[in-house]
Amino acid sequence: MTVQPIVEKCEGCARIKEIDGMRRCSSYPEPAAKWSLGICNFATHVKASVDKQGKVKINPLKMSKRASRSK
Ligand code: SF4
Repeated sequence: MTVQPIVEKCEGCARIKEIDGMRRCSSYPEPAAKWSLGICNFATHVKASVDKQGKVKINPLKMSKRASRSK
């Protein structure tokens, strides 16, 4: 299996590693496939929640909250 480069939705994730000059995921070899199924469950920069209508919502503020807590 080959390791694929990250996709746009991965931007901001702490699991991104630069290997051989390409940015790749350290947890999953096919980031595009991971996101095609919905929100990546390994992502560190987004948080999924389900609203009252049962729709999945993404909260991109998870990382900024973590960053402010560590100060
Ligand atoms: S963990 Fe998910 S969001 Fe993060 S780089 Fe890997 S595939 Fe992308």
